[in-house]
Amino acid sequence: MRKDYLVRGVAFDKQVRIFVADTSKTVQEAQKRHDSWSTSTAALGRTIIGSLFLGTALKGDDTVTVRIQGEGPIGYLVGEADAKGNVRGYIKNPQVSLNPNDLNKIDVAGGVGARGELIVTKDLGLKEPYVGRVNLISGEIAEDFTYYMTSSEQTPSAFAMGVLVNPDESVDHAGGFMVQLLPGASEETISQLEENLVNFPHITELLKEGKTPEEILELVCQGGNPKVLGHMPVQFHCTCSKERFAQAMVSLGSEEIQSMIDQDGGAEAICHFCRQKYIYSAADLEQLQKETE
Ligand SMILES: [Zn+2]
Repeated sequence: MRKDYLVRGVAFDKQVRIFVADTSKTVQEAQKRHDSWSTSTAALGRTIIGSLFLGTALKGDDTVTVRIQGEGPIGYLVGEADAKGNVRGYIKNPQVSLNPNDLNKIDVAGGVGARGELIVTKDLGLKEPYVGRVNLISGEIAEDFTYYMTSSEQTPSAFAMGVLVNPDESVDHAGGFMVQLLPGASEETISQLEENLVNFPHITELLKEGKTPEEILELVCQGGNPKVLGHMPVQFHCTCSKERFAQAMVSLGSEEIQSMIDQDGGAEAICHFCRQKYIYSAADLEQLQKETE
């Protein structure tokens, strides 16, 4: 399998902006780390892909976090991305596997729940983060991101996201696109784009056929003379470290650390995002205690 990447482009005389990504390996990595089952994998994968697309608007070290809180059996979902194609995510209940929906697809809306909220937090390096929130409109996630972008960020957009899961729970293919109308887009452009999208094949089918993100970009923007402007590698990447968790323990204070030493002879921390486990010996903790002074 080729490495994951995202392409960005424009079409229709720069009235349309588009991003297309193959995220097969990235979502596979998330599946493996969370040991997730089909419905959870599809929901987590779509959330990560959507976060990746929101990340394309960021700069420098800024990050965006998307939290989807529905009433379905998978509980909440979190996806996070930066401007450099680094993404990570987690899910409350990774082991949900529902029967397929009426279209014989993974029932993501059944897992997420049709009622709930999508909350976007952008850390832009300012004192306060930007927070935008919308109610879920379908629970299928792509429609919910579409609704968020159009209503909360006033950028008419369409998202497509797909995750194809093998019978052994591994990820066969995953990817998506985000297409946006820029100010001044004409009626002709809008109707041509709608025509292109109305019976558009599933993105995972196209990836499975071997289509590249560039070729998918061409298909979405047919008749609009699309141009690819750039590429970016995409990967599952977590920013956790033993040191970061240690600093969190230091902030608990000396007494709390002493009780970990007395009761457990050490401590263990597990990262929500990547499931990496960090182990602290009694000696490690004594060292941290000195830092609290
Ligand atoms: Zn981590």
